[in-house]
Amino acid sequence: MRVRSRDLTHSALWLALYVLLALYPLLWLAAVPSRNAASFREELASALGFLALSTMAMQFVLTARFEWLAPPFGTDLVYAFHRYVTAVALAFALLHPIVLLAPDAASIAGFLVPWDAPGSVAAGVVSLYALAILAVTSYARRALRIPYDAWRRLHGLAAATAVLFALWHAVAARRLLGAPIVRWLWIAWTLGWAALLLRVRLAKPLALLRRPYVVREVRPERGDAVSIVLDPHRHDGFRFRAGQFVWLTLGGSPFAAAEHPFSFSGSAQRAPRVELAVKAIGDFTRRVVATVKPGDRAYVDGPFGTMSVDAFPDADGYVFIAGGIGIAPCLSMIRTLADRGDSRPHVLVFATSEWDRTPFRDELPALARRLRLTVVHVLEKPPPGWTGETGHVTEELLARHAPRDGRRGYFLCGPPPMMDAIERALARLGVPLGDVHAERFHLA
Ligand SMILES: Cc1cc2nc3c(=O)[nH]c(=O)nc-3n(C[C@H](O)[C@H](O)[C@H](O)COP(=O)(O)OP(=O)(O)OC[C@H]3O[C@@H](n4cnc5c(N)ncnc54)[C@H](O)[C@@H]3O)c2cc1C
Repeated sequence: MRVRSRDLTHSALWLALYVLLALYPLLWLAAVPSRNAASFREELASALGFLALSTMAMQFVLTARFEWLAPPFGTDLVYAFHRYVTAVALAFALLHPIVLLAPDAASIAGFLVPWDAPGSVAAGVVSLYALAILAVTSYARRALRIPYDAWRRLHGLAAATAVLFALWHAVAARRLLGAPIVRWLWIAWTLGWAALLLRVRLAKPLALLRRPYVVREVRPERGDAVSIVLDPHRHDGFRFRAGQFVWLTLGGSPFAAAEHPFSFSGSAQRAPRVELAVKAIGDFTRRVVATVKPGDRAYVDGPFGTMSVDAFPDADGYVFIAGGIGIAPCLSMIRTLADRGDSRPHVLVFATSEWDRTPFRDELPALARRLRLTVVHVLEKPPPGWTGETGHVTEELLARHAPRDGRRGYFLCGPPPMMDAIERALARLGVPLGDVHAERFHLA
């Protein structure tokens, strides 16, 4: 399998459309003559301000969970791109007043206190502060020890504040937005993007409310994990590809900002039944592992994600490389292949800390018998008498176990440092980039 030309064309078209939409203000500024004679510096400052507004507004499309947006990039890449664009928008927004006020640098300090500034300027300053808070808390959330759910609420609020106040600033400043038609077009354009926030926070939960799920079965797994089996309650559910993921809300209401992403761990052949494997690592997952029980209500938004054997059906076999609970999407793909009676040779390299904390270790031999699957366990702390692989998944270990003949699809899921190391190792082993597919469990 190589990077497909269809995927490349798809990616190139998306990027071209994105850049065109983001740069649209520049085209518009070039086309619309300024009403007042303005210097180059003032024109540049305006361009930077409008660029900040348009890049900020377009951020909402990246997180609006459009299923058609992620392929061929992958959800994790779309979210990473979203983070980088935040920094770009902040740079444009900071440069806007700096360029504008450059000849009178002393006045910049006066504008930093919004309540001392005139109304339209104050709105711009508030927007700049909101954007700065958004960028700092996104890049340094872990260092600042902000819990994810609290951060998500703050993120939505700061994003809406940054865009709405920037729009207010642009409209009130009247520069280039003097003509009512132009003004209303800009308002509609900006609010149109910003309204996508309502898709995730309002429209989606409303739709989910009508399509609840019921927990059918809960199975404790090794390593502080549980398997949860969910069935649609009085609706047909949805079909999915093995390896994809959903956003799960347990109990309560789908309006709570407490939905979390989890990969399917069950076979896609058994849809609409949904099976997930959840490992206890923080507040939400610990609560799930300790308290979820059959009969509980749940809401399942999905499917999302692009990592799947079904996206690469023409491979001669697959190599799954999982670390810890990263086994979940790999297990979904392996269970699906088993249910389909797949006859190609596959390999699973599964890294865990200890044998007794290795989830699904008891089920894997049965799956290996149903498929031509070789399972290679790699233990960080092996028990006495262990004769298998130990330590980390290295280039040398992969060279020994990953077959090099034919066209193989590689699927990776595990802790970020492990994934980074394996991606480098596979590249050194000459595996083409397009044959490697990864799901990262950290979107932010
Ligand atoms: C695409 C994807 C698939 C995943 N699949 C699985 C799986 O199959 N099994 C499994 O056990 N875990 C999976 N995870 C990880 C799981 O979502 C987190 O472990 C869980 O959300 C942690 O929440 P917490 O409150 O228990 O822990 P916290 O301590 O609050 O969070 C730990 C980390 O998890 C991430 N996280 C927390 N809440 C969210 C959220 N609402 N949305 C996005 N990320 C969040 C953040 O990076 C955070 O730093 C997946 C994550 C992603 C992105």
